[in-house]
Amino acid sequence: MTQTAAPPQTLKPSAEGEGWKARPIKLKIFGNLIAEVVHKGICMYCGACIASCPIDILFHSESEEPIMRGTCAACQVCYYSCPRIELPVAEIERRIFGRERTTEETILGIHIGSYSVRAKDPDILKRAQDGGAVSALMLYALENKIIDYALVSGFTSQDPWKPGPRVARTKQELVENAGSQYSPGGQVGGLAEIAVPNRSVVDFQEERMALVGLPCELQGFWRMNSHWIAAPKIGRNLVFAVGLFCSKVFDYGKMMVEFVEGARGIDLKTVTKVNIKKNRLLVYAGDRLAIDEPVEVIAHAAREECNICVDYSAELSDIAVGAIGSATGWSTVLTRTPRGEDILNGAAEAGYVELKRLDPLGKGMKFLETLCERKRLRDPSAYIRHSTAYPRPDPKLVPIEVPLE
Ligand code: SF4
Ligand code: SF4
Ligand code: SF4
Repeated sequence: MTQTAAPPQTLKPSAEGEGWKARPIKLKIFGNLIAEVVHKGICMYCGACIASCPIDILFHSESEEPIMRGTCAACQVCYYSCPRIELPVAEIERRIFGRERTTEETILGIHIGSYSVRAKDPDILKRAQDGGAVSALMLYALENKIIDYALVSGFTSQDPWKPGPRVARTKQELVENAGSQYSPGGQVGGLAEIAVPNRSVVDFQEERMALVGLPCELQGFWRMNSHWIAAPKIGRNLVFAVGLFCSKVFDYGKMMVEFVEGARGIDLKTVTKVNIKKNRLLVYAGDRLAIDEPVEVIAHAAREECNICVDYSAELSDIAVGAIGSATGWSTVLTRTPRGEDILNGAAEAGYVELKRLDPLGKGMKFLETLCERKRLRDPSAYIRHSTAYPRPDPKLVPIEVPLE
């Protein structure tokens, strides 16, 4: 239940010079977050508020919103950890990259290299999306003891195909949770399962982590890290973060339960892969292609919070991965930090992936750049202010729908 604490009183000099008068301090607590973000339809369920609460009273919920169970201490940490209250892009870039992006890097963000990548492991290729780069890089990092676990977006045990944060330590766990999902997973909130001792399945203080998330989930992670109280709860042991290209996501209930199961009669327990490719919705049951229809059939399920999101290529990551820019069966990988470049090259040398350089001026990269630029036509002014990273795009650009991968 949401609690609204009465604002405490403090003494301040009055403007009229009449001496000291009691004035209310405007505290910003969980109730404010619900009012200003969730009820305004701009919460993308990243989970940063859940993970940040110092007394651990925030949780995931069935309705894909953060909820409170307990008595709020009115500390304001959740409010100021939310990337939809404010996302200080320049400050975060200085933390990750040691600098802000240049004018030339405005659209794609800071990056070192661009590649087409494909996993070599047949189990990963069978289950994963496109080239299976994310799972292959995680497997390399796990088996070579660069990390102890990967926090990935996987599937809940109760509802088939409902995304949720998962800890993967083995190849089997990576493969089980591989493949694209098209609904939010509260990924950063998964850190709460790690950072809260009585919910934890890992030794959070000792074990090293890699995080996989959508651009908004990484924004939540870094926003939390900017907060002096929230930061020590997570992030100390992050080795690297992988971001996934994203244009928008869909409501799980409307897409999977109402449309796939209800309208098309496919038992979700039999679904083996969901893909959106060239604006077609593809759903596989076993080896059978059970649904192959224009993506417009689920247009009503698109989540409204994506309408103000301007990050397509996971700009706040060590490694960004998606399909746009590469041939079918390959993943496009942008390395953004030296650490990301080392991980990719290490995986290639050790035989986990094969890779080809993508020409920064070639057709694939130009198309990726175009999609990033088009996504900038959405208006982020509710949470990004005074940022040189996101100047308004050329007004002559005609707004088009950014295609899903
Ligand atoms: S931190 Fe994330 S989950 Fe929490 S209110 Fe903000 S956007 Fe929603
Ligand atoms: S972080 Fe602080 S303000 Fe937010 S719910 Fe927890 S105790 Fe309340
Ligand atoms: S479009 Fe943006 S807000 Fe929506 S899921 Fe993708 S990254 Fe998150």
